[in-house]
Amino acid sequence: MISKVRFKYRIEGIVQGVGFRPFVYSLCMKHELKGYVLNNSLGVEIEIEGLKDNVEIFNDLLYVELPPLARIDFLEKEELPFFGYSIFEIRKSDSQNSKYSLISPDMSLCHDCLSEFNDITNRRYHYFFINCTNCGPRYSIVKTVPYDRPNTSMSPFVMCEACQSEYDNPLNRRYHAQPISCAKCGPTLMLKSMDGQVIATNEDAIARLAALINAGCIVAMKGMGGFHLMCDAQNDNVICLLRTRKNRPTKPFAVMFGNIENIENECHISVVEKESLTSLLRPIVLLKRKEKKSKLSAHIAPHIDRIGVFLPYTPLHVMLFKYLKNPIVATSANQSGEPIITDGKHLSERLNHICDFYLDYNREIINSSDDSVVQFIDTKMLMMRSSRGIAPQSFRVKSNDTRKILAVGAHQKNAIAIYLYNQVILSPYIGDLDNLASFELFEKTLDMFKKFYDFEPDIIVGDLHPSYASTKWAKAQNKPFIQVQHHYAHILSVMFEHKLQGEVLGIAWDGTGYGDDGTIWGGEFLLCNETSYERVAYFEPFFLLGGEASIKDIKRILLSLLFDLGKSGCEVEGFDAKQLKLLKQVYDKKINTPQCSSVGRLFDAVAMLCGVSEHVSYDGESGLIIEGLYDASISGAYDIFLEGNIIRYKHIFLEMLHDKEPHLIATKFINSLANIVILMSNKYGIDTVLAGGVFQNRTLMEIIMQKASQSFYFPSQLAINDGGICMGQLHAILSKED
Ligand code: ZN
Ligand code: ZN
Ligand code: FE
Repeated sequence: MISKVRFKYRIEGIVQGVGFRPFVYSLCMKHELKGYVLNNSLGVEIEIEGLKDNVEIFNDLLYVELPPLARIDFLEKEELPFFGYSIFEIRKSDSQNSKYSLISPDMSLCHDCLSEFNDITNRRYHYFFINCTNCGPRYSIVKTVPYDRPNTSMSPFVMCEACQSEYDNPLNRRYHAQPISCAKCGPTLMLKSMDGQVIATNEDAIARLAALINAGCIVAMKGMGGFHLMCDAQNDNVICLLRTRKNRPTKPFAVMFGNIENIENECHISVVEKESLTSLLRPIVLLKRKEKKSKLSAHIAPHIDRIGVFLPYTPLHVMLFKYLKNPIVATSANQSGEPIITDGKHLSERLNHICDFYLDYNREIINSSDDSVVQFIDTKMLMMRSSRGIAPQSFRVKSNDTRKILAVGAHQKNAIAIYLYNQVILSPYIGDLDNLASFELFEKTLDMFKKFYDFEPDIIVGDLHPSYASTKWAKAQNKPFIQVQHHYAHILSVMFEHKLQGEVLGIAWDGTGYGDDGTIWGGEFLLCNETSYERVAYFEPFFLLGGEASIKDIKRILLSLLFDLGKSGCEVEGFDAKQLKLLKQVYDKKINTPQCSSVGRLFDAVAMLCGVSEHVSYDGESGLIIEGLYDASISGAYDIFLEGNIIRYKHIFLEMLHDKEPHLIATKFINSLANIVILMSNKYGIDTVLAGGVFQNRTLMEIIMQKASQSFYFPSQLAINDGGICMGQLHAILSKED
């Protein structure tokens, strides 16, 4: 008799709602294995029984042929005595305790669905909500777990017979795909005027929307995680109008193109950038624009040579491009600084002064998300905003910690993270917690976590800054609260992602972060391990004249630095004699002049010298403008050096006054920053970690990577800016425990 074997598997990871059970089912059918598969509280349980060779094939194929959205984080296998199963079946899960299974992010349209969408003989030809187990919405439609249709915003739509039979067939690509529908049984599209009147429905609505965009209107469209504002990206007038209506003078807009060829005509694009743009994640990728005359309006990204581009990611967007003549500006529909709008009624109330019409549909967006934003440093991805397609993100960690931990992140570009049962789960990008709407989203996101995972924190971890909204909220919870220094958290997040242990040199440069000494930090060299850090060097502090006022009115930063150098200040354009006198008094008497060691702010001062406008209108503007002025044919650098534990740089502003020419100043400045990074990294001769908003500067990063002799790390999965802080905070707590 040929001997048969029996194995039990316990698998954790992203294995629910992604076609994992039918995948196991068809593997077992193909290889004559009997037993069962079921979803349980932590993931999936499988028992298989059959010939030893077939079990081995199963073991290999489990990883090799894994469905595109599935991810195995943990697998435990146990041999059991032969049982004698007669069939292989998908067993019903115990829905009572599927509280810890991970929810997958929303995914863009897959290849199979796209071909069906374009196939005139297919029953879902041109169906704008086509999806399957391998693609479509997840996070945006789920109200609670387990992830079953009644718990999603698809629950009001009763499947027609054809859809139901696909849903019930384990060998079908749409087996248990919760959002499936067709033109007969799915949601309805509606083009509406701002007073809510329905003008057209379904494909006609899309065609009319495209015609409005082609004619130069500003419209809104409900996408996957919220509404976008859209207009023709080649029409100067409409983009200027959008800027005026949105009160957004210069911040760049992302552009959606109908296909990759059109992107290639406008931008330099590498193999990895192309892969990323066309991947299922479909993020916005920041690309360098081609020098030649562009067809895009110059008002899309004034003064800078980068542009954020992306491709259609839902069938709705694909459909829209069938009727559009040009690429479009597609930007999150919101009031400046507030979260993306997800509801048509809300949109018509809040944005009726901005757009003229909107495309709505009657499936509710439960959880919002923005577009994710990435860029590439050579072949490595650098994460700038982790949201649609990527978040919620989960990581399995080794830890003996049995507590449930909440990390509330920082203040700007906030995101939160939780830890429970060896899982870390990171929320999508929430936003700047400056306004009520963003703070409400912060609380809503936490409630969602609580509901999905039965999560109630035993302990909270946050930033050291006493006036961050996240810190204040955490302090009011009456729970143990631990505060982690901002820049240390930046470095820890990268150590977490790259699993770095032992000592590293952490270089954290950003706009602002609360230091241990109560001053503002942001030009930090920290010798770190997982449990502690030492501030081994930092940029020589300067004074922020008038505190916060300096951050918006950047000529004050230059003025302050010139005062430090004994200058009168008349070198700085834009002040009259009276203002200058007043600010000198402020400087001399140190009235409301916090100390600051931030490299981000130095970019502001340099931008002033390069002749840019004195008011920055968005975070990171100075950095992008200086990067745009960079000229690779200039090889010089200013002399920034280490003295004791202070980085001396102030003298270079005198040289800049002498250099005058913006390209020369910008280039030498970026080169000198790269030099000091390399100098410090070589001095310590250990792995070096880069984090903080300043390192979103691709030119600076590329020069550092070219000159690097140590191993350098930066985050590819977690945001390099303050969006990654919550993960660093969690890592601080989890590292202390073991
Ligand atoms: Zn699909
Ligand atoms: Zn149907
Ligand atoms: Fe920061």
